[in-house]
Amino acid sequence: MKKSLTKRFARNFLLTVLGVIFITNIISNYMIDKQFDQYLLEENKKKIEKVKSLVEELYKGKDSFEKLDNNQIKRYAMLEDLYIQINDEDEKMIFSSGENHLFHKKMMGNMMGRKYDIKSGEYIEKIFPILKNGETIGTIVIGYFGLLNASERDVGFKNTMNQSFLISMIITLIFGLVTSLILSKQMVKSLKKITKVANEMKNGNLQIRSKVNTNTIEIDQLSESINFLAETLQQQDNLRKRLTSDMAHEIRTPLTTLQTHIEALIDGIWEVTPERLKSCHEEILRLKKLVEHLKDLARLEQDNLYLNKSNFNLSTTIKKTIETFKPQYKKKDLKLSIDILPKVEVSMDEDKIKQILFNLLSNAYKYSNIGGQVEIGLKYDEEIIIFVKDEGIGISKQDLPYIFERFYRGETSRSRETGGAGIGLAITKTLVEAHNGKIEVRSEEREGSNFIIKFSKKYLIK
Ligand code: ADP
Repeated sequence: MKKSLTKRFARNFLLTVLGVIFITNIISNYMIDKQFDQYLLEENKKKIEKVKSLVEELYKGKDSFEKLDNNQIKRYAMLEDLYIQINDEDEKMIFSSGENHLFHKKMMGNMMGRKYDIKSGEYIEKIFPILKNGETIGTIVIGYFGLLNASERDVGFKNTMNQSFLISMIITLIFGLVTSLILSKQMVKSLKKITKVANEMKNGNLQIRSKVNTNTIEIDQLSESINFLAETLQQQDNLRKRLTSDMAHEIRTPLTTLQTHIEALIDGIWEVTPERLKSCHEEILRLKKLVEHLKDLARLEQDNLYLNKSNFNLSTTIKKTIETFKPQYKKKDLKLSIDILPKVEVSMDEDKIKQILFNLLSNAYKYSNIGGQVEIGLKYDEEIIIFVKDEGIGISKQDLPYIFERFYRGETSRSRETGGAGIGLAITKTLVEAHNGKIEVRSEEREGSNFIIKFSKKYLIK
């Protein structure tokens, strides 16, 4: 059954406190009982010792059992709840305190519901020799009820302990309940605020942000996550709008050119010449290329989850791919600086790696200025690292977060008419991620860009 957080909190807290108190009570009662029994044992021992020495002392003065002051021993027996019997050398009973006072007290105690606790109950009798100058002159029998022929003062002590437990239990319970209610109220308040923001987002308001300020890390994290989600959704939304207008623009330009050309031909304003037909053909090719790109992208998104791994030399593959670019790079007078660790044997999808390099090297070419330098590297320490660094136009701070998105083209790229469709990096990222790798970019406008790819070393063949 679903319950509110406050109720859940209070109930769980209550159960925990009760559990803790219950366990503490059992443990402490057990410990106190043990200590108490120990204490009583000691007490009994002391009492017995005292009776013994009292009798011995009395005997010393009189030199005969007959002359003993029995009253004193009797009083002591009554006072300490003991049965005392003195026998002479021949086991003949000389004195007995009588047991009545013992049984009477126990019975009264039980009747009044006051348990003289415990295990007591059973009556114990012990016999000790009475000594004079090291010689046995008789025996003394001492009887008492169990451990606990305890005095009322002793039982009172235990009761007080239990009472103080009960009081502290009630105080803890009240205090804990109030604290847990306050705490849960605070949490619920923040959570409600965050839920409100999420609901607003659900209704399409992506500008809204959660502004809770708590000292609970998890709630702060939740609030940050909701804000991050809103931010990302907003970015996606902007991107989708931009993408639609980009696509419309990309398609409209060749279509308008085609339309005006063909209308002019139909109206007889233009004569049909091979050049004019060629220009129309080029526009059709442009449209076709655009549609191809879209198709490629759809295919790639499906295929890229699957890796067709083989063992190959990554150093050689990179070098070979660079070779294919050399004639093109020469046209722009680009200098190549290659820093590739040799003989890096890996087990990866070679076609995908080639495609990644192809995309990065084409971009480095497209966005480099004439006479610039392009640096390509391969190394590994913690991870396998491939980088392609250029000294080209760089990427503006506004464009940087979006360049890996499909159909995104930076402002400068659009104005330069590089002929790209804005999907090269999106594909590259998907290919890298298919290998569980990461792609990062460091770029400064007008200074250049550095694309860094990191793969796990698990792809290395040892
Ligand atoms: P495009 O076909 O436009 O090159 P990409 O997906 O390859 O598409 O790149 C997306 C955008 O990233 C480009 O439009 C460009 O603005 C920017 N970009 C990519 N590579 C570089 C680079 N090496 N230097 C500067 N900008 C780059």
